[in-house]
Amino acid sequence: MASNTSNPANHLPYFFGNITREEAEEYLMQGGANDGLYLLRQSRNYLGGFALSLAHGRKVHHYTIERELSGSYAIAGGKSHASPAELINYHSGEADGLVCLLRKPFNRPPGVEPKTGPFEDLKENLIREYVKQTWNLQGQALEQAIISQKPQLEKLIATTAHEKMPWFHGRISRAESENRILIGSRNNGKFLIRERDSNGSYALCLLNDGKVLHYRIDRDKTGKLSIPDGKRFDTLWQLVEHYSYKPDGLLRVLTIPCPQHGSENDNLGFNTHPSSGTLPKNWAGGGIISRLKSYTFPKPGSKKLQSTIGHQPEEAPFNPYVLQRNRGPTGAERGDQREALPMDTEVYESPYADPDEIKPKNVTLDRKLLTLEEGELGSGNFGTVKKGYYKMKKGAKPVAVKILKNESNDPAIKDELLREANVMQQLDNPYIVRMIGICEAEAWMLVMEMAELGPLNKFLQKNRHVTEKNITELVHQVSMGMKYLEENNFVHRDLAARNVLLVTQHYAKISDFGLSKALSADENYYKAQSHGKWPVKWYAPECMNFYKFSSKSDVWSFGVLMWEAFSYGQKPYKGMKGGEVAQMIERGERMERPEVCPTEVYSLMKLCWTYNVDDRPGFVAVEMRLRNYYYDISH
Ligand code: AMP
Repeated sequence: MASNTSNPANHLPYFFGNITREEAEEYLMQGGANDGLYLLRQSRNYLGGFALSLAHGRKVHHYTIERELSGSYAIAGGKSHASPAELINYHSGEADGLVCLLRKPFNRPPGVEPKTGPFEDLKENLIREYVKQTWNLQGQALEQAIISQKPQLEKLIATTAHEKMPWFHGRISRAESENRILIGSRNNGKFLIRERDSNGSYALCLLNDGKVLHYRIDRDKTGKLSIPDGKRFDTLWQLVEHYSYKPDGLLRVLTIPCPQHGSENDNLGFNTHPSSGTLPKNWAGGGIISRLKSYTFPKPGSKKLQSTIGHQPEEAPFNPYVLQRNRGPTGAERGDQREALPMDTEVYESPYADPDEIKPKNVTLDRKLLTLEEGELGSGNFGTVKKGYYKMKKGAKPVAVKILKNESNDPAIKDELLREANVMQQLDNPYIVRMIGICEAEAWMLVMEMAELGPLNKFLQKNRHVTEKNITELVHQVSMGMKYLEENNFVHRDLAARNVLLVTQHYAKISDFGLSKALSADENYYKAQSHGKWPVKWYAPECMNFYKFSSKSDVWSFGVLMWEAFSYGQKPYKGMKGGEVAQMIERGERMERPEVCPTEVYSLMKLCWTYNVDDRPGFVAVEMRLRNYYYDISH
């Protein structure tokens, strides 16, 4: 499934997606090819880049629009613009190097959608396969990992995907590459890529009529790869894909990857029949990588990241937020490090993944398997929250344990804890603190997944260096967790930055289900009988006026949560009393934009603070807006 939600040009009627230069020319000719007629298409060789096709003098001129490191767009050597649309606007008034002004867009004919390109589809497949193999995920957990970490995964794929492709042979000599190609079948177009040096230069070795040709692949200053005078690519796999579509300067197209030593045949997961020597019928229908049945990706150093200090090896200082990848598959020292992704932590995978261990319906835990540490993670009127370990088959799992005060004889507190446990046991999502179980021993205890870095508001108060992008990533994850609650008919009723806990600086989970309610299938709101001890500054008008709570009122709270996050944990409506806040809202006033808050996020905040419930977006829309914005700023 190709998702194009992140493409900043998809909404433009004159954007055709991944069409070829020839197709662009055909369209403009169809449109009369008058001077200044133009269209926009996806670049086929630059990740995230575009191409502008412009008619002039009965000819079509093509300009590459590169996405710069800063995230802006420019025609090589030209002025930078925030988006492709702005660039087009600019050149409608200034030729500035173009053959003429952009006068009239050629819009997509009715029914024609922007075309998804081979790289787009391929990238999606590579990412999915990579996540499946590296973290052993499937189903919802797999999809959620891809959605929340797409920008990071794209980078990983760009730099590592070639390493386990059958055509990549690592650091071998020129002579060895010839040996390898000449062994076995001698189909024209059989090829491999070898590493020439550690500066990122490679060679493409291609069989043509019994002889092996060697093309250098050099990396330029900006990191782009190309054979001499050839097209430039961001990744090796894009280069291979391109030259398996058309020779474009090579003596012939790439057809079959040369197998690595020890491989039994030339097939290597291809959908072709190797012994026939003939190419499959749909040979022209896709590139080499598109036709591979499977890829096997190199694994990061360790599958699961230990998020607790007690479990780390003593000899090496260990930074839990950085994952070390020691060696590449070629044996070369890589030394590269990357930030831990949510999937690297122990709390991404569901504790219910193994039903023999914890049965979601039977959540009573054995006290003997639980050890508690001294010291408190937090406290409240109910008692304390302590860190502990729960012994499981795979080892001791770090947990947070809510322990009820023993001296409290107030049955309401116990009921509240059991109600919270009852809600939590029905929830299972990577962006929600999951319950491991309930334990009745020296006190009533609610055992939960551990989120070591604690509440988001406190973390941000202490860490002012956290970037806007990082905050966007975190609030987007919260919106994913809330979308899950909305889908499953739960209202949280206490969504606030203090109730978002961090596992790492890049991984947030929603917690504190003490006020939460499950809605029955036939109602979309919960009606409280009376006013309670409510976090009124986070509550929508209908909560205050009619005691009505729904996912839409959680959306209102989410707006306040975003405000808190982009204010680095400041208190909302500072210095104001609950009643004053309610009056301010009734007057139509809203909190101002926090200093570092991007305008896009502030406009979403204000949308979350839409007075009328029916006009307020739900979490499906909120999550999508945040996702798109996060992807845009991550590139
Ligand atoms: P609560 O009453 O649920 O808001 O918990 C009080 C405090 O205990 C929170 O503000 C956190 O500092 C800490 N805490 C609660 N649950 C966890 C958890 N799952 N992981 C880590 N710390 C937690």
